[in-house]
Order: sequence, then C-alpha cells, then structure tokens
Amino acid sequence: MKSENKHIVVVGSINTDMTVKSGKLPRPGETVLGGVFFKNQGGKGANQAVAAARLGASVRMIAKVGKDAFGEESVASLAREGVDTAGILTDAEHPSGIAMILVDDRGENMISVASGANLALTPEELGAVEEIIRSAGIVLMQLEIPMPVIEYVARMAKQHGATVILNPAPAPKQQLPPELLAHVDILIPNQTEAELISGTAVNDYESAAAAAGKIGQMGVRTVIITMGAHGVFVYDSESGNSEIIVAKRVKATDTTAAGDCFCGALSVALNEGRPLNEALDFANRAAAISVTRRGAQPSLPYLHEMSTR
Ligand code: ATP
Repeated sequence: MKSENKHIVVVGSINTDMTVKSGKLPRPGETVLGGVFFKNQGGKGANQAVAAARLGASVRMIAKVGKDAFGEESVASLAREGVDTAGILTDAEHPSGIAMILVDDRGENMISVASGANLALTPEELGAVEEIIRSAGIVLMQLEIPMPVIEYVARMAKQHGATVILNPAPAPKQQLPPELLAHVDILIPNQTEAELISGTAVNDYESAAAAAGKIGQMGVRTVIITMGAHGVFVYDSESGNSEIIVAKRVKATDTTAAGDCFCGALSVALNEGRPLNEALDFANRAAAISVTRRGAQPSLPYLHEMSTR
C-alpha cells in the first residue's frame, strides 16, 4: 500500500465510560447500594486512535465532543496518548458522549449509551478538517458517528489517495450503503457484523469464506473477518485469494476492545508500508496482548511490548 510516512486519521466516536460494579444488577425500579465507581475513556474511535498511537503511529483524530468537562477530559487524555486532537470539534448544544455501564459480580453487564455530540457531527463541518483527511495515508472509521459523515469521509479519502478501513461496529442495524462499500478498501467485521452485512451466519472458516465472498461482491477489496480466539479470515476479492491466520495462544481474561486493538494495530503496520500478511500478524499479536488485560484503553499494548512476544 502506498501510504508510507503519512498519518493515520481516525474519524469516530469519543465517549466517557461510567461504570458501577456491584453485587447484582438492579431490576427496573430497583436501587442497588454498595457499588464501586470507575470512569474510563472510551468510544470505538478513541480506542482505535489510542491503539495506533501506542504502537508508534502518527495519529490524527476527527470527532466531536460537547462543551463540557467530559469532553475536555477526553481530548486531554487523547493528547496525552500522543493523538493529534486539532480535528476534534466542540458542540455547544449536545453533551459529550457517555456510556453508563452496570456490572455485577459475575461480569454480567447492562450498558446504555447517550451518543450526544458524536451524532451531531455533520458532513458540512468537515470542510474545516479536509486538510487533515488530505494528510492521511489511512483513514480508519467505525459506525458510532452518523452514516452521512462516514460516507462523505470515505469518498473524500479516496479522492486524496488514502486507504479507507472500516470497522462496521457496533453491528449495523441497516444494510451498509453500496456507495460506501465501493469506497472501502478494507472492511473488518467480527463474526456477528459479517453475518449482518452478508446475510450468512459465520460459525467457522467455511461460513466465513461464504460471508466474505458475498461482502467482496458488494465492492469491498479486502474483507478481514475477526473470529476471536480463532484468529481472522482474510479474503481479497480482486485475486479471489483467501487465508486463515490463527490467533496467538494466550490466556484471555477480558476481550473488551480486542477488535479496536486489532483495527488500530493493522492500520499502523499498513501505514508503515508493510504487506498485508505481516500487518495481520502484527494486529493478531497486539490484540492477543490486549485480551490478557482488563479494560478497554488500559489493555492496549505499547510498541515496546510487541518485540518481546
Ligand atoms: P470485542 O467486541 O470484544 O472488542 P470483537 O468481537 O470486535 O471484539 P474479536 O473477533 O473477538 O473482535 O477479536 C478481535 C481479534 O482479537 C481476533 O481476531 C484476535 O486477533 C484477537 N483475539 C480475540 N480473542 C482472542 C483470544 N481469546 N486469544 C487470542 N487472540 C484473541
């Protein structure tokens, strides 16, 4: 890929995750006392930007937060991670995105998300950040911001010669627009997302091949289906070649953000001009480290941790 020495531009969501862990989950109308509170930085966009920055890439983020303390804290945290935050817009009308998470002793959870400013981002505002998109070797997106923004950015990124990577997460509720898929170079769904997009249930490598084939026919050049502990299934629709890359064997303790880690790491290696098979190995190794640790952003590995594994 011809994106050497350029920036990775992540266009996506920023949330603050507010978690209360307690003995049991409340029923509707019930109050459960005695919980412990944690506040963490989150949002798939922010997670993937941090993943890429920790692995040594120059990362710029385009996103929207509210004009509030949560937004300020999130932007400051991204900046501390080395992410260029000049493309993060502030919205005076909508609050910053929040995820309210309740977790019980067994790890069972309930999550409610108020996307707020993330969903107030519009294509019209992106003129102000076009320069950032122009600087991209890779543009990396997810589905936690409005679809018209994703479509607009994908089109603009292709015009400027960037590689467009889309992680269609969270699982899309509607079919992805064909015009969008035509501008996506690499689509990285997990098994559930691959099923929703292709209409084919993905349970094993054989069904992954069928689903990837269908997604390839929709106009995507490279389809990478992540399959948890089974690794990834890769399909190149131009050559018709496919490959299985098995996951690293590790003792998984928490797979939160494994997909985010994989997408960020793959982007880093491709942006360095490494071939796809090497990039997949790098992403598999990074994601394997992340599943051995708890939490989302706290689990994301640094570059110096990669060489030792
Ligand atoms: P999540 O929603 O939990 O962030 P996901 O469903 O988006 O994850 P997965 O397919 O579960 O994504 O995992 C992404 C990648 O992480 C896998 O392709 C693999 O490289 C790595 N991975 C996940 N689980 C494991 C595991 N148990 N052991 C080793 N690697 C793993």
